[in-house]
Amino acid sequence: MTLRSICVFCGASPGAHPIYRQAAEALGRHLAEQGVRVIYGGGAVGLMGVVADAAMAAGGEVVGIIPQSLERAEIGHTGLTRLEVVDTMHTRKARMAELSDAFIALPGGLGTLEELFEVWTWGQLGYHSKPLGLLDVNGFYAKLGDFLDHLVQERFVRAEHRGMLQLSETPDDLLHKLRHWQPSVAPKWVDRQPE
Ligand code: AMP
Repeated sequence: MTLRSICVFCGASPGAHPIYRQAAEALGRHLAEQGVRVIYGGGAVGLMGVVADAAMAAGGEVVGIIPQSLERAEIGHTGLTRLEVVDTMHTRKARMAELSDAFIALPGGLGTLEELFEVWTWGQLGYHSKPLGLLDVNGFYAKLGDFLDHLVQERFVRAEHRGMLQLSETPDDLLHKLRHWQPSVAPKWVDRQPE
């Protein structure tokens, strides 16, 4: 599938090791070089700012969506192609999803996980068929991967829904996987076999 715009979820903090910042830079640059527009939370802080700066420096397009209430805390980025200031966090997330053809999570905290899981559950319910991926920097997401496998094993998540989330260590490979992803034919509540 053609991916014109990709939403990047990531930490509003830089993390404990320079490797996170380096990965954010590499992703922002790679998206720009591939002609993919970056959609993100609009902040200038942490990995958010790093992704945006790297994509802009490489000649890419970056659209930030930030709620009014966070414009000061996350320091609304003033050097983007466009910064949209919206009324609430819910509007931010809906707008980021609407503008994007796929979603990538870099390392981050609760906000990053919340954004990733929300958009993943929307996909699981069949509200959209857009691919999702984790950029696994330094094994950051390995334990989450193990826990997600546990959810499948314990029959709280279906294997095809687990399979909606791609994981890769490089932007290039992750983009390749997202482009070749095939939407599942089974929304959560359809075809359910009796337990
Ligand atoms: P974090 O991963 O906690 O550093 O947050 C990364 C981004 O997620 C920040 O821009 C947060 O504003 C955003 N975020 C989105 N939804 C939420 C939420 N429900 N709670 C906290 N942060 C959120």
